[in-house]
Amino acid sequence: MTRTLLGVWAHPDDETFLSSGLMLAARERGDRVVVVTATRGEHGTDDPDRWPADRLGALRSRELDEALSLLGVAEHRWLGYEDGACPLVPRRTAADRIAAIVEEVRPDTIVTFADDGVTGHADHRTVGHWARLAWRAAAPRAELLEAVLAPGFVRRFADINEAFGVFMDDPAPEVAPDLHLRLDGEHLERKMAAMRAQDSQTRRLVEGVGLPTFRRWWGEEAFVRTAPAAVGAA
Ligand SMILES: [Zn+2]
Repeated sequence: MTRTLLGVWAHPDDETFLSSGLMLAARERGDRVVVVTATRGEHGTDDPDRWPADRLGALRSRELDEALSLLGVAEHRWLGYEDGACPLVPRRTAADRIAAIVEEVRPDTIVTFADDGVTGHADHRTVGHWARLAWRAAAPRAELLEAVLAPGFVRRFADINEAFGVFMDDPAPEVAPDLHLRLDGEHLERKMAAMRAQDSQTRRLVEGVGLPTFRRWWGEEAFVRTAPAAVGAA
């Protein structure tokens, strides 16, 4: 039976960093995968003179299209919120919009950020919260997967996490994931290709640490699972 995976993320590249392996495995089984992105990530630059928001937003949209196509994902929706401003969006409005997508897509699994936003980014934390509200309201019988850091990520990559400002704040304490993917072979290659397709975000990381380290750094994915609720309408 075909299943449906719905990813709910804040910026182009979140889906690729955190769930490429999950999406590749789903597509390989013939499952439907739909990705929702709240913002175009139009402020994601240290050089806003060279990359005004319109230009960067357009570039990141194209990069996301390319990455999703490399991952075999054909369905994508934008929420159209401003990068960095998700916490200012009325929570109910945003959650209702995601719930409408959930009602239409009818996912078996919803994947989003854990409460800490993985990196502590306020947009991540907010979008994860919206997705959980939408899950409870519109698909309480779906499985919820919340992305967390892979075991040992904070310790093993402490130097480069610090150097590249991965965390907005001290990372949340490590939790034992229910699902831990260690990508290798074709899945790892395809994830790396999708990450490098988002060159505006990943080039400085790849060039900064070298490709072999970059592959180890982002070659694992981890999720905490909340099983389908026993309650709710049939
Ligand atoms: Zn992000």
